[in-house]
Parts: sequence; C-alpha cells; structure tokens
Amino acid sequence: MANAIKDIQNTIIIGGGPAAVLAALRLHRSNSISPVLYEIRPKPTTLGGAIGIPANGLRLLNQLGLYEECVAKSALTSKLVLHALNGCVMGEMDMADWSEKQTGFGYLRIRRTDLMDVLLAAAERENIPIHFGKVLTAIEEKDGRVLVQFADGTTDSADFLLGCDGIHSSVRKLYVDPDVTPEYTGIANMFSLIPAGHDLTTASESGPIANLNATLTSDGLFAISPTTPASDLLYWFFSREVPLPASDHGRDGWEATGKTEVDRCKTTLLQLLGEEKSEWVDMLRQLVQRTETVKFYPIYKLPTGRPWFRGRCLIIGDAAHAMPPHASQGVSMALEDVFLLSTLLKSEHLALDQGLAAYVTKRKLRTDAMLKKAERNGTVRKQTSPWRVRANELAISGGLWLYKTTGLERLGIGQRDLAYDVETEKF
Ligand SMILES: Cc1cc2nc3c(=O)[nH]c(=O)nc-3n(C[C@H](O)[C@H](O)[C@H](O)COP(=O)(O)OP(=O)(O)OC[C@H]3O[C@@H](n4cnc5c(N)ncnc54)[C@H](O)[C@@H]3O)c2cc1C
Repeated sequence: MANAIKDIQNTIIIGGGPAAVLAALRLHRSNSISPVLYEIRPKPTTLGGAIGIPANGLRLLNQLGLYEECVAKSALTSKLVLHALNGCVMGEMDMADWSEKQTGFGYLRIRRTDLMDVLLAAAERENIPIHFGKVLTAIEEKDGRVLVQFADGTTDSADFLLGCDGIHSSVRKLYVDPDVTPEYTGIANMFSLIPAGHDLTTASESGPIANLNATLTSDGLFAISPTTPASDLLYWFFSREVPLPASDHGRDGWEATGKTEVDRCKTTLLQLLGEEKSEWVDMLRQLVQRTETVKFYPIYKLPTGRPWFRGRCLIIGDAAHAMPPHASQGVSMALEDVFLLSTLLKSEHLALDQGLAAYVTKRKLRTDAMLKKAERNGTVRKQTSPWRVRANELAISGGLWLYKTTGLERLGIGQRDLAYDVETEKF
C-alpha cells in the first residue's frame, strides 16, 4: 500500500498514444516503476496528420534517447514563409532560431504514425506490455490500490493509475472529473498528406516545400509543410471556422458536417486561389488538384481550472489539458507532464495527495499559458473579408520586418516558452 509518493511501484496506464507510451518509458527507466498499458483501439491507429514538436519537447525526447530516431523520420525546419494570395512573399521568420540557440534543439514536424512507430518500438525493446482493444468500464480504489475493469470481463490493479486516454478520456469521465465536457473551438481542420512529385519539390527556388508555408484567405488559413527529411511527403491543412452542427451534437452530426466540408474543401480552396497566376499559387493549385483524400477534424479543447487527480488516479496529456494544435504543443506538453511526474515520484518526503496537488499547480501554470498562445495563434483562422485579409497580411509583413530590424528577434520574443526546461522544477 502506497500512501507516500516514493512507495509507488507499479502503475496502470490507460491509453496507447504519445502521453501513455512516453510515461511508460520514463517511469520504467527513471523511477523503476512497472507500467502496463491498456489502449482502446484494436491496434495502433493509422489516423492523424503531422505533429510539430518545438525545443521544449525535443529536449525531452533527447533525454529519452529518441530524438535521433524521430529526426530520421521528420522534417527539421522552423522557417515560416508567409505568402499573399497573389503569390508574393509577405515575410519570413524563423519560429525557433532563438530557442535553438538556448537549447540546442530546433523544431520538427513528424507524421503522428511515424512518431508512434518510434515510441512503440522503444516500448517493445523494454518489454513494456501494451494491451490493445481494452474498453475501460470501471475504476475503484480499495485498500490503497486502484482496481480497473474492462468490457471483456478482465480486471487489473496497481498502486497508481495514469489516465493518458486523450481528450475524450474515460478515466476523467468515469472517475476523476465526470462533469467536464470538451468544448468545440469553432475551428475545424481539413488536411491531407501527399507525396511531393518532382514538379512540386522544385516549384520555387525560394524552396516553398522545404519550410512551413502559409497563406491567409478570407475563409481561413492554408498551410503546407514537409514531414520527412527528404521533403518527399507534404502535409497541407486548411483551418477554418465551421459551425457546430445544429441538428445533432453527437458523432453523427459531425460525420455529416465532416463529409460536406470534405466534399467542399477542394472546390473552396480552388475558388479562394482565384485566377491568380504566380509560381506559388500555381503550385497550390496543383497540390489541391492532386489530393485524393482529405480528412476532417473539428478542434475541441478542455476548459481550464478542473481537477486532474482523484485519490491515486492522475490524468495527463490531452486527457487533462487538450488544447488547439495552433501552438504545436500537444506532444511537448505531454512530455513535460511525464518528466515532471517522474521528478515528483522521486520525492522522498511527500504524501501522495500533497505531491499530486503540487504537480498539478506547477503544470497548470504552463498548460494555461500554452492554451492562451494556441488561441492567439488561432485568430487568423477566422472568416473575414478580403480587405481584412489584405490588412492582416500587411500587418504581419510589417510586424515581421520590425521584429528583424529592431532586434526583437535576438530577445527571443515569442520563443521564450520553448526554452523552458521542466527538469529544473523541484518538489
Ligand atoms: C487518432 C489521432 C490523430 C491525431 N492527429 C493529430 C494531428 O494530426 N496533429 C496534431 O497536432 N495532433 C493530433 N492528435 C493529437 C495529439 O496526438 C495529442 O495532442 C498529443 O500527442 C498528446 O497525446 P495524448 O497521448 O495525450 O493524446 P492522444 O494522442 O489523443 O492519445 C490518446 C490515446 O488514448 C486512446 N484512448 C482513448 N480513449 C481510451 C480509453 N477509454 N481507453 C483506452 N485508451 C483510450 C486513444 O486511442 C489514443 O491512442 C491526434 C490524436 C489522435 C488520437
């Protein structure tokens, strides 16, 4: 029975995504804790687009010895090029040059499936058990143990339980905070991953495909990024306002909306590009025309100020603080959670409830700040008039020019939170 933090010896982890596998690896190696994972899906998912990971997360992936493996599957590039709808370049900025100087790590973009391949291979090397197809039905605590039940009739128990089961977390719903519901942000993403043919990769000598490229439109933000070291696989997304389905707030309503949006997406994008003739716009047109499958996902977030633990159950990652992806912090926040938890679990003097409360206080400061940043970045995705787009383009272009010429670039404005090192935190 573990009433002190230091007595925890084993943990059940619900989920099999990044937060779950990262937690298992870290706690196994650094805290000598035996984890067992239970994932709801019957096998690793092939869903998902590409995920950005900045320096605060890369530093921690490196600590886990997984940085090089991720780099080998991803595009390491932090330059953002902003193109006007008429094709001219409005400005460029490096989103991670300052943080790279501070930490030694830049910014990478990797397919979620490639990231999961790296993580699952590492878990397999360490013989960490992952059970797939497990539907959690109940959680209870008895005599200092957490007991879980699954729909197939199986059960398990441990000193501790980590809920790493994403934004629609069952651990949260069944036990930690049943009253909270994720909130729709009003923005949905449509995206696709497509091979870059020779014509696309050589489309411009300024290298549109080697960097993150974005174009503001009156309907939302259109962006393209490479996701592989050779830039031979491109990730494009169109992020725009989509109203909550009025007739049905459940999955069916979204399925119908998603289908309509996806059907409309290519036509809308081609219309937004209009008749403009430029190297950049021609390349966008080709990219859209060549796309066969477009995926749709509405972006939800969790309200802040809610409980993250109850008894010996703690939720981390998206289960606790899902936020829009516009600050590229989903995986990095999960990594920071995992490393701070690992530090906490080494504490010699704290009782379990005291320690978990201290952990939550520290993490909320950070995740609340990142949520605000993501929401600020989300504003350019809102519907607006063509003249407002032009005004935004000019404002951003002027801002980028000022940022460079006045030396703000050297002060790390906008990048300071990427140099944060969660391992400096103490309990
Ligand atoms: C299919 C999928 C695709 C995604 N694609 C993108 C993307 O393209 N870009 C981006 O920025 N972010 C994406 N995300 C979100 C991103 O992965 C997370 O923000 C981030 O990695 C934090 O990871 P997490 O492990 O906390 O949550 P998630 O990545 O959501 O992982 C949660 C895991 O728990 C599992 N799970 C859910 N419910 C249960 C349950 N009741 N019992 C057991 N297991 C359960 C899920 O199947 C999943 O494997 C995606 C998430 C998912 C699930």
